[in-house]
Amino acid sequence: MTEKLAHTPGSAPSRGPRSLIFETGAPESRCVMPPALDVPEIDLDAALGGATRSEPPVLPHVTEVEIARHYAHLASMNFGVDSGSYPLGSCTMKYNPRVNEDAARLEGFSGLHPYQPESTTHGALELMVGLADALAEVSGLPGVTLQPAAGAHGELTALMCFRAYHVDCGDARSRVIIPDSAHGTNPATVAMCGYQVTTVPSDADGGVDMDVLRSVLDTDVAALMLTNPNTLGLFDSNILEITEAVHAVGALAYCDGANLNAIMGISRPADMGFDALHINLHKTFSTPHGGGGPGAGPVCVTEALAPYLPGPVPFRREDGSYGFAQPASSIGRVRSFYGNFGILVRAYAYVRALGGEGLREVSEQAVLSANYLKERLREAYDLPYDRTCMHEFVLSGSRQKREYGVRTFDIAKRLLDHGFHPPTVYFPLIVEEALMIEPTETESLEELDRFADAMIAIAEEASRDPELVKGAPYTTPVRRLDEAGAARNPDLRYRPEE
Ligand SMILES: *Cc1c(COP(=O)(O)O)cnc(C)c1O
Repeated sequence: MTEKLAHTPGSAPSRGPRSLIFETGAPESRCVMPPALDVPEIDLDAALGGATRSEPPVLPHVTEVEIARHYAHLASMNFGVDSGSYPLGSCTMKYNPRVNEDAARLEGFSGLHPYQPESTTHGALELMVGLADALAEVSGLPGVTLQPAAGAHGELTALMCFRAYHVDCGDARSRVIIPDSAHGTNPATVAMCGYQVTTVPSDADGGVDMDVLRSVLDTDVAALMLTNPNTLGLFDSNILEITEAVHAVGALAYCDGANLNAIMGISRPADMGFDALHINLHKTFSTPHGGGGPGAGPVCVTEALAPYLPGPVPFRREDGSYGFAQPASSIGRVRSFYGNFGILVRAYAYVRALGGEGLREVSEQAVLSANYLKERLREAYDLPYDRTCMHEFVLSGSRQKREYGVRTFDIAKRLLDHGFHPPTVYFPLIVEEALMIEPTETESLEELDRFADAMIAIAEEASRDPELVKGAPYTTPVRRLDEAGAARNPDLRYRPEE
C-alpha cells in the first residue's frame, strides 16, 4: 500500500493508454488460418451481379497475439469485483462465486432453446420453481415472478400489479408515497406507472416521519414504497406502525428489496407488513451486475396479489411434473420468455450452495462488516446518523469540504489511487457530501482494514495537502473526465482517417 501512496501529481500513470485495435497490426496480419479450399472456386462479384463493395471495409488486421493482448489490456483497464473491493453502497457488489458460472455453463442450461417443448425442459422449470420457492421463503411472500430483468423493472411490475388490484377493487387511486431517502428508481417507477409522487421526509433517526406520513395518507393513496433497511443503512423500527397505517387507508405497502442483504433469514418483509417486494439477484444473490445488465429483479407478492403477476409462471404439478400457468388476472408478460434465465441459474446455485443457514450468515457477516468499518472511520469523517447500522452506512465529507475545500468527489477519486473502487457518493440526497459504504460479507477483515486505512490516510492527506486530493486520481488510465459529457454524448465511434 505504501508504494501506491507515493503517487503524487506528475507521476506516470501505471497503465497508460494504448493504440486502438484499428491502429495495431499490419495489412498482411491475420489471426485465422482458413482450411484449404475444398469446393469449386467462384467469382463472388459475378455471382452477386456486381453487388459486392468496391473498397474493402476498414477492419483491423491483427495477429492472434495482438488480439489476445488487446482484450487482456481492455480488461486490465476496468475495475470489477475481481480486481479489488468495491464498497458501492446500495449496490451490494459482492464477489460472484465461480461455481455459479460453472452451473450456468452446463450444456443442459446454456444450450436450451426457449421454444423447446415443455416436456424437454423440466430441469430448467424445476430450477425456476426451486428459486421462486427460496425467494418466497426469504421474503415470506408466496407469489413470485422471475421475469423482471432488473430491480427497477421489478418495481414497475409490482406497481402495475398494485394498479390492477386497485382497479379490480373499483377504486383507481392516484398517489404513491415515497420517503426522501429513496433510490431514484422509486419516483421514476411511480411516474412511469401514471401515479403522482408524494414525498415524506425522514425524521432525526433517519426513519419515516410518522406524523407527516399520517398526514398524507388518505384513500387516494395507492401505495407506499419503502426501502427497509433504508438507504442510510438503518432499519426503520416503526415498520409495523407504518405498514398498518398504510393498510388502514386501503393502500398497499411495497418494499424496495435492494437492501435484502442485511436481513436474510433474520426478518421477513412479509412479517413487516409488506405486500410486495423486488429482489435484486445481481445484488443479494451474487450474480454479476454486468454493464447495466443482465440482471434479474424477481418480485414476491402476497396471496391476494398473486393473481395479477406476469405470466406464464412455472409451477410444479401434483404428479411432480412441471408446467407453466397463467395467473387469473395477469398484467401480462413484462419480459420475453422466462426472464434472464442464465442469471436465475447463478442465483439458484448460490442459494443451494449456502442453504438457509448460510444465507442468514451472509446477512450477519454483512452487517458486522459494515459496523466494523463504521467504527474504524467515525473519527476521520462525520457520521450524521450515529446508530448501529445494517449492511451499509453513510459518512459525510462535510468537515473536509468546510475546512480544506476537499469534496467527497475528490475523496472518491483519491481512493482509486489507493486501489479501491469508491463508495456511492452524493446519495442518499438527504446527507450533505454523502459517502455510502457497503463492504459486503465477502471482504476479509484484512481487506476491511486496508480500506479503512486508505480512507483515514485520505482524511489526513486532505488536511495536510488538499491539492493532492483535489488532483486525484494519478494512477488510473485516464484522470478526471467530463462524466456528464461522457454519459450524455459518448463518442465511441472510430473514424478512419479520410
Ligand atoms: C439498485 C437499487 C435499485 C434498482 O435496481 P436495478 O437492478 O439497478 O434496477 C432500486 N432501489 C435501490 C435502493 C437500489 O439500491
